[in-house]
Amino acid sequence: MEPQPVNALSFDLEHWYSATLVADDTTEPEDHIERSTEIVLELLDKHDVSATFFVVGQVAAEYPSLVRSLVQKGHEVASHGHTHTPLFELTKAEFAEELEQSANAIRQATGVDPIGFRAPNFSITPKTAWAFDVLNASEYRYDSSVFPVKTPLYGVSDAPTAPYVVSSSLSPFDVGMAYSGSGIVEFPISVVETPLERFSGYGFPTRIPFSGGFYARVLPSMLLRRFVRQVNRQGRPVNLYFHPWEFNEQVQIEGLPIHKRLVSYYGMDKAIQKLDNLLHEFEFDTVQSVLSPELTETTDRTSTTQVH
Ligand SMILES: [Zn+2]
Repeated sequence: MEPQPVNALSFDLEHWYSATLVADDTTEPEDHIERSTEIVLELLDKHDVSATFFVVGQVAAEYPSLVRSLVQKGHEVASHGHTHTPLFELTKAEFAEELEQSANAIRQATGVDPIGFRAPNFSITPKTAWAFDVLNASEYRYDSSVFPVKTPLYGVSDAPTAPYVVSSSLSPFDVGMAYSGSGIVEFPISVVETPLERFSGYGFPTRIPFSGGFYARVLPSMLLRRFVRQVNRQGRPVNLYFHPWEFNEQVQIEGLPIHKRLVSYYGMDKAIQKLDNLLHEFEFDTVQSVLSPELTETTDRTSTTQVH
């Protein structure tokens, strides 16, 4: 058998009430962030797996020992912005500020500089493509914000589905061929291509999102595992994401309208078992470690450029 790719596992560590759909319905929320994180850490420990935590800078400032303990346990801490503001609501300068402030908060809590970034609500789309200029000029090395399916809130319908180096001369949503110098490695969230892919242009759904959050909670465990297998068989690592609050039923609030309830809480009771099954069947590691070939390549090219 072919060796299977190692997949990337990440958790967006934010206040559960940062989620756009529940934000308006929440007054004086109780914070469950420590317990939610503990639930996730216990499961990772059980399988001896390291993961990436994309941490909101304000959370790192508020809970420094919690965030420090992630690094002490061998996990990667990366940035999920400073205030969890989607990029649609930021200017270029404000985004640069968010990147720097969150890096400072993470460095202060852990002593480590984050090299990865994930935009709140996957808010890097053609509308906010300028984000790559800002990331390129920063100390960050990779991004994991591109969602290669169009959804009502976010997504880029024809973006690449495997890790790629963002080219400075092509669209940031094209696989970078003409890349030179330092740059950002993009690891899109995973999707599966359906047999209808060849009918694209006829309005059929050709890509199915599955690899995290609401999608993973809705899909039966068997189907979720089948999709991971399908992506791995094509030689690609899966980029799987969750939020620690998705494993803690204590965060549910009463009185949400039905559609918000569904998207926010559906399948929470089975989420831990599903992730347990995935960690049992497949290999996972931090995003940084799964991307290490691409990150090494960009470093090499950078140093070659400097030598000549
Ligand atoms: Zn988030």
